[in-house]
Amino acid sequence: MLIRNAVVFGSDRTDIRCERGTITDCGDGLRPLPGEDDIDAHGGWLVPGLHDHHLHLRSLAARSDVIPVGPDRIRGTAGLTSRLRAAALPDTDHTWLCAVDYHDDVAGALDRWTLDRMEVGRPVRVRHRCGTLWILDSRACALLDVDNCHLPGVERDHLGRSTGRLWRMDTWLGDRIGALVPDPARISAAAAACGVTGFTDATPDLTRPEVGTLAAAVLDGRIVQRVHCMAEPDIEDPKVDRFRLGPTTVELDDTTLPELDDFVFRLRRLHTAGRPVAVHCSTRLQLILVMSALDLTGTMTGDRIEHGAVIPTEALTWLRRNDIPVITHPHLRLRHGTDIARNLPPEDRPDLWRLGSLLAAGVGVAAGTDAPCGDPDPWAAVRAAVERAPCRPAAEALSPTTALSLFFGTATRPHIPRTLAPGHIADMTLLHIPPADLGNVLDASAVAATVVAGEVVYRSS
Ligand SMILES: [Zn+2]
Repeated sequence: MLIRNAVVFGSDRTDIRCERGTITDCGDGLRPLPGEDDIDAHGGWLVPGLHDHHLHLRSLAARSDVIPVGPDRIRGTAGLTSRLRAAALPDTDHTWLCAVDYHDDVAGALDRWTLDRMEVGRPVRVRHRCGTLWILDSRACALLDVDNCHLPGVERDHLGRSTGRLWRMDTWLGDRIGALVPDPARISAAAAACGVTGFTDATPDLTRPEVGTLAAAVLDGRIVQRVHCMAEPDIEDPKVDRFRLGPTTVELDDTTLPELDDFVFRLRRLHTAGRPVAVHCSTRLQLILVMSALDLTGTMTGDRIEHGAVIPTEALTWLRRNDIPVITHPHLRLRHGTDIARNLPPEDRPDLWRLGSLLAAGVGVAAGTDAPCGDPDPWAAVRAAVERAPCRPAAEALSPTTALSLFFGTATRPHIPRTLAPGHIADMTLLHIPPADLGNVLDASAVAATVVAGEVVYRSS
């Protein structure tokens, strides 16, 4: 494959050739070989393929099969009805319709009869935001024979009829409907259209079968990207092309913080097993604990801080000296920024969701979408990183090219941009525009083609 007339990231050449997954030539005026796929970039920017450094593939796939119907998205019975009907249109093969995040603010307390009147045309189940309540329409009730179920969770009206409201019956429902088997193909294709060539799945405690399922999706091409999967040390590498095991996720919670000695023991055990650690760190206390523990164990290449919501000034030197990158989610800051800020001790406020000041201090930074918590579109993160939002000091905002480069790193060294030169893997994203125009088009429409291992996995029409 040949890409010509591009502005190549980190190079003064314009043309790149790749063969068998690797860049083989980088020069000017290269001529297409017979039968070679030849792309004229028309002066567009050719960058290392965007790697989403932190997301949760399985939950994202599961979420793409459900319909969010929270009050932030939908108002009133009419709104809910049209949303459910639109989702029921025969463009998918799922018989059940599953809506989540419902709250009575949307259209009052739902029961089977209110759902029936919406005439969705498919069995419907709606999960209430409270987490303990499912509401089924009559079609769904009939399929599951809810009327003849006498468990206490089945709510009944004064005539003894089941209302379709099932309390604390997740397991019962799961046994009957079967857990959704999420299909990652759709999210992989959507990510390819955004220029994404790699994912780092940061889900904690993935089981062996879950890792196997993910690797199988890469192997059979449902996931076209490279996948770097965080895992516990006892998980074996499934040895699948484009699939690698990564560091081990370590989660921290301020209310259940481990003793320093226990934490040191755990980190040391992971390092000894050859696993770097990816510590989820959202508060000052958590970061201090991690720094103290890593001072005792010593750091390992690949160790990283996830989220890094609060990073006090005194931690900057430590992070730089130890070459520990922070994997941040600039668009989550905009979404949850005010919520977090409200619960934050005032002294932590200046240290919340740093970005520009991390780079200025020489700390390694990379970005992930944290989907499905965040928008899976990396361009949402890029826009947020560029924006000078009211709650963020101007020094934290980045230039468009720097913001995009937070996705250029390798999976193992997320803060070090990859090189587009002979001998390197051919994972690339071609934009329609030169770098100077990036600020005008900060969304996926900038993507002209996405190349993984030398194969075009997306090309804009
Ligand atoms: Zn996450």
